[in-house]
Amino acid sequence: MGMRELGSAIRTARIKAGISQKMLADRIGLSRESISNYERGEVQVLSPALLEMFAATLGMDPRNLARIAGYLSPGDDPATNSSGMKTALITGITGQDGTYLAEFLISKGYKVYGMVRGQHNPKQELVQTMIPALEFVEGDLLDQSSLVAVLEITQPDEVYNLGAISFVPLSWKQPVLTGEVTGLGVVRLLEAIRMTNPRTRFYQASSSEMFGRVREVPQTELTPFAPRSPYGFAKAYGHYATVNYRESYGLFACSGILFNHESPRRGLEFVTRKITHGVARIVAGKQHELALGDLRPQRDWGYAGDYVRAMWAMLQQDEADDYVVASGETHTIEEFATRAFAAVGLDWHDYVRSDPKFYRPAEVNLLIGKAEKAERVLGWEPTIDFANLVGMMVQADLEKEGITA
Ligand code: GDP
Repeated sequence: MGMRELGSAIRTARIKAGISQKMLADRIGLSRESISNYERGEVQVLSPALLEMFAATLGMDPRNLARIAGYLSPGDDPATNSSGMKTALITGITGQDGTYLAEFLISKGYKVYGMVRGQHNPKQELVQTMIPALEFVEGDLLDQSSLVAVLEITQPDEVYNLGAISFVPLSWKQPVLTGEVTGLGVVRLLEAIRMTNPRTRFYQASSSEMFGRVREVPQTELTPFAPRSPYGFAKAYGHYATVNYRESYGLFACSGILFNHESPRRGLEFVTRKITHGVARIVAGKQHELALGDLRPQRDWGYAGDYVRAMWAMLQQDEADDYVVASGETHTIEEFATRAFAAVGLDWHDYVRSDPKFYRPAEVNLLIGKAEKAERVLGWEPTIDFANLVGMMVQADLEKEGITA
């Protein structure tokens, strides 16, 4: 069974009901060509929402249609797919968290799709080599109809929205684009879920940057937001959108308020990786100093590989909710640098130079999270602490430079 059978079932029912393709098209809000394509089985997928509209208009049982389409075996609930294998869609697939999450979900037996924009993305090939089981789909958080199409094509059980303009300094240079992608992108995706299949579970990658000029220490799910950058206030918008779609439409939508999380896959522009990459290049003799900005800010750093497990766990609960994910420890940039240089027997004072270029218009001085709720409800706990994180990142960068300890 499949789309061809579904198409002829629709055609038969339409003729029996005595209505033309044009009439059916008008009632459902599609073009006559689409109806014709559906009837000829030329369309690869039909979203559950559309399927229900066809059924209602033609007086058919939607579950029968779903069964004919091959989505259901007898007795199945229409919300789950027929193979028993779950499907996930990840936006931001080429970022650090995208790759860790994809690997984690694939190891759990998921079929995983990663959304990429149409233009050539040089990272896509690398990610495909790293994760051969991953499949790419084209879509853009700026383009509403592309998101609807991606959801119709992939029919995900779970959507993880990791796509964003995520580098804080860039958000000052492109604040409107940051708002469009990081903020409104969330609403576009939630709308697309509402239109295609409101039973799809949704994870929003929210950020500790929303706490900004912190109102309390440590920060929890109840701490008020006080963002200090266009990135921070765009993420706050995305967070509230997620909460509102849960409360207004009953979507299973979760917001994970993740504190900084790092790994050897972190982009070179972020301070942790900039430092460990710099240390390795200094050891390799390729660079002799490292220019950094303000060394005083404090961050709660964890390991990205640990944090993606929390994302998944949020979507496996009976109820959708919001969670802080953090290590519960905070360290200055200076402490990170001290440790990273010490790992190769060097003193950071001899190499680090201060460059005002890396100072920000407004700084988030102190972040420290309390993940008590995630630990209690999700049973989540991190496996890598600060010392191990720095060690792992330095080691990986040394290896990339061809240096083995
Ligand atoms: P963020 O917390 O998401 O902004 O992550 P980053 O890794 O970009 O920055 C963490 C902190 O490091 C911020 O408080 C920065 O101001 C500080 N910092 C100091 N020097 C640098 C630098 O050279 N690059 C970056 N990215 N951050 C720096």
